[in-house]
This record gives sequence, C-alpha cells and structure tokens, in this order.
Amino acid sequence: MIFRQLFEPQASAYTYLIACEETGQAVLIDPVIETVERDLGVITGLGLTLDCTIETHIHADHVTGAGRLRALSGSKAGFPAASGVDCVDFTITEGEPIAVGALRLRPLYTPGHTDDHHCYVLESHDAARVFTGDALLIEGCGRTDFQNGDPATLYRSVHDKIFGLGDDTLVYPAHDYNQRHVSSIGQERARNPRLGGGRTVDEFVAIMGALNLPRPKKIDLAVPANRACGDYAAAAP
Ligand code: FE
Repeated sequence: MIFRQLFEPQASAYTYLIACEETGQAVLIDPVIETVERDLGVITGLGLTLDCTIETHIHADHVTGAGRLRALSGSKAGFPAASGVDCVDFTITEGEPIAVGALRLRPLYTPGHTDDHHCYVLESHDAARVFTGDALLIEGCGRTDFQNGDPATLYRSVHDKIFGLGDDTLVYPAHDYNQRHVSSIGQERARNPRLGGGRTVDEFVAIMGALNLPRPKKIDLAVPANRACGDYAAAAP
C-alpha cells in the first residue's frame, strides 16, 4: 500500500492518498480544489493512476477538488448516497466496501457533524486506519450546529461505531489546526476532552451547546459548490 497525508493550509484540511501497489490505482479522500494540481503531481510522481475521489461529507469550510480532478484525470467522484448530490459517478453506503485495486475501504455511517457523514476504515498488513472526517478530530470533533448537525447523534456515532474499532486503529482526521497528524482509537477514547474519558452524552451535548462559534466564512459558497462536485459556476444562483 502507498499512503500519503496531504495538507491544505487555508482550511487546515487533510487529503489522504491511498493506493494499491499491485495495480497502481489510487483514491483521494476529501480532495480540496486549491490543491488539485499538487495532488495530481504526487500521484503521477508515484507512477499511480487516480481511480476515484471520495468525500466524508459535504464540507462547509472548503470546496472539493472532485470535479476538477475528474475533468483533469478522468477519476470517478464518489459521495455518500446520503449527500443526495447529482454530480456523482458512484454513491457510498455503509456495508458496501469501496475497492481500490486490492485494497478495500469500509464506509461507516457516522452522522452528527452532518447528516451525510461517513468515515472510512482501511485494514492493511501494516496497520488499521480510520479516516474520521469531521466526526472525530484529534482531541476534538467537528461542529454540530449546522448542516443538520446534532450533538447526541454525533456522540452515538463516535461511541457506537468509531470507538468500537480496535484501540490500535490509527485515527486520521479531516482537519487539524495544531500541526498534529495522527492519533489512535485508544488514545481518543481515553483522552478526547469532549468525547473520551467517560464523558456522557449529556456532558457532550452541553459542551457543544456552549461553543458559540462564528458562522463558517465560506459556508454559503462551499456547500452549494460541493453539492455540484466543486463546480462554482454550476452552484451560482
Ligand atoms: Fe465538515
């Protein structure tokens, strides 16, 4: 397996490149439109072909590179079926693994940050990894105050599904604002200040209700653009 964690600084967003060494097929999780050329450079530099892009959810803080990558490389754009978008080449549902060469990504439906959110589990010979999107961040989590977010739903997603993975499973989030790159399920279950350490659902709901965060700057642009696979023109009113 080939694995790269790629960073986009404006949104502090991580894009993940995963590729099958036997077939040279690659997938990007959560590509960002500003870094499409950089990502394609990494892929061609490694001698790989971009088979598809997949999203964890419809983002509010940045625009996906899925449509632009499709136009430039012929990759297929995959979105959760729950996102309900029309621009997709395939939809993603829990229980239906995504094949990339010999690799299999297992979608987990994890609503609460948004109502379409999915994590992806990848088991390989070296490690088990989970790409947690904005459901679970390192010592944090995504917001629950827009896009049909709901803190009690997020708590259940994290506790019932994500924390059910093995303690050694590596946690790769969609964002980190403090130059951290990876955590583990065991560490987050023990130490995540919002969701770990035996926090109850009522405590979590109270924490999330008291955040009083400003409205995301790009939300009015990013959500419609992402519903069009990152095509601003198609998203314009
Ligand atoms: Fe998000």
